[in-house]
Amino acid sequence: MGLAGGTAPSLRIDGVSKSYVSDKFALDQVRFQARSGEFVVLLGPSGSGKSTLIRLIAGIETLDSGEIAFDGKTVAGGGKHLPPEERDLAMVFQDYALWPHMKAVENVAFALRRLKMGASERRRKALEMLDRVGLATHAEQYPNDLSGGEQQRVALARALVAKPGLLLFDEPLSNLDADLRERLRVEIASLTRECGSTAVYITHDQSEAFALADKIGVLHAGKLVQYSTPEALYTAPETPFVARFTGLAGELPGCIESWIGDETVVVRVGDTRIKA
Ligand code: ADP
Repeated sequence: MGLAGGTAPSLRIDGVSKSYVSDKFALDQVRFQARSGEFVVLLGPSGSGKSTLIRLIAGIETLDSGEIAFDGKTVAGGGKHLPPEERDLAMVFQDYALWPHMKAVENVAFALRRLKMGASERRRKALEMLDRVGLATHAEQYPNDLSGGEQQRVALARALVAKPGLLLFDEPLSNLDADLRERLRVEIASLTRECGSTAVYITHDQSEAFALADKIGVLHAGKLVQYSTPEALYTAPETPFVARFTGLAGELPGCIESWIGDETVVVRVGDTRIKA
């Protein structure tokens, strides 16, 4: 699929493992699938493997085993490794990663350099996208003259302008203050869905995950311990870690006292008995 395709791929991550040092998995047999156009958030504490996974999907890092496929087409695994520029994706980074010597509009237009269109057409599209992220009046400014939030909007416009099949977000809001984070995440959610791209977004922030995701994957020590809708994560966390980390449930130590039929137990918690 070319850069101009604009068709969101489905994404398949299959048994993906990666170690940086022997005997220690940064990622251990990670497996999940995203449908075309789905917004996936990978949530986990520091060191759980989020950056490694998103870098493998981007093609910045090589995997040890397993397979990554877009629309059934292998991009990594089995001896194959497509470089990032051949994966029809764009990435938004925590530190914006804008070219300091280019104006906002030039930064955005740069993402269109590989498409067959003239300079004026690229500029027109870049200006249009800057307008969509609320920065029409800042187009001729350099990144250093923009605030953090404005720089991240430019980076978002740059990622969206070529309508890539896959959008990757690497903790894009973590350098911004709380108020701005909430406003920008709403914009990220709506612009990404308008664009139709499949999205993978990593964060350690539970509220961000719940605000954005169609599916949430929880990473813990290199393992994907749950992959489900936010609702399922909320109502049925699969491990105590998920319940604790998502902050959705209090934890009560208890012991099973008796069974009622096959599916219900009576749990004694202190002096109280709870059917569960
Ligand atoms: P997260 O993004 O969730 O903080 P990372 O993917 O950065 O997690 O890290 C996962 C594990 O891999 C951690 O134990 C980390 O120390 C280790 N790790 C990450 N990058 C490297 C590297 N370049 N060299 C060695 N170890 C690394």
